[in-house]
Amino acid sequence: MEVFYYIMFFVMGSVLASFYCVVGTRLSEGKSLIKPGSHCIACNHLLKWYELIPIFSFLFLRGKCRYCQEKIPIHTFLCEIATGVLFVISYAVFGFSYSLWVALILTSLMILIFVSDFNYMIILDSPLVISGILLFILKLSYYDLEYALLGIRDGVIMFLFMLLIGFIGAKVFKREALGGGDIKLAFIMGLSLNLEYALMALVLSTFLALPYAVISLITKSNHEVPFGPFLIAATWIVFFYLEKFSYILQLFY
Ligand SMILES: [Zn+2]
Repeated sequence: MEVFYYIMFFVMGSVLASFYCVVGTRLSEGKSLIKPGSHCIACNHLLKWYELIPIFSFLFLRGKCRYCQEKIPIHTFLCEIATGVLFVISYAVFGFSYSLWVALILTSLMILIFVSDFNYMIILDSPLVISGILLFILKLSYYDLEYALLGIRDGVIMFLFMLLIGFIGAKVFKREALGGGDIKLAFIMGLSLNLEYALMALVLSTFLALPYAVISLITKSNHEVPFGPFLIAATWIVFFYLEKFSYILQLFY
């Protein structure tokens, strides 16, 4: 039976991932989500339903478009596998519980932000809003209104804190240091992790971003570093290792 759930969560993750890739790409480019239907980005040929099955279509087609033989970008395929695996891990770690649904939301948000922020330097509003609403509903249904409102409070504190950092950063560096998307994402960090853990995730994210920032400083002419992927990755890590991080937290009390 357990195997059935593993397969179910893998399929769910990979199907959602192919949707997230479409959302992350199309909305970032200001295009419609619905029209045109999924098509080859080289020859615009509309894809049939059996060419839209996550993971398998890419394997059947051997990574090429059937009509123009152009290579299909491999990152969607990899993203579908990665999301499937992360969904399975979420279930394996948390079982059916409040934490599982939070884990799935954070994983989804992470994939979406990776797609839109690394490629377009954009964090879309709609995934943040939807995640926020879902997290609030989860807190309400598994706990109570008070707990849900505490989450909102921590989200607002994180939001204001990041706003302040962004403001100081802009004064010091004389240019925008934090994007609006990063600041809104901080609200989700506070809401999902609560304040202390969200602050730890913030610290962790700067460590995660540092190697990338150094490399892009050396190799790229454009020194802009998207911070969103590191913020959400750190949030994900802290959430999955909450117990480990609670040891660190105890050192401060
Ligand atoms: Zn094609």
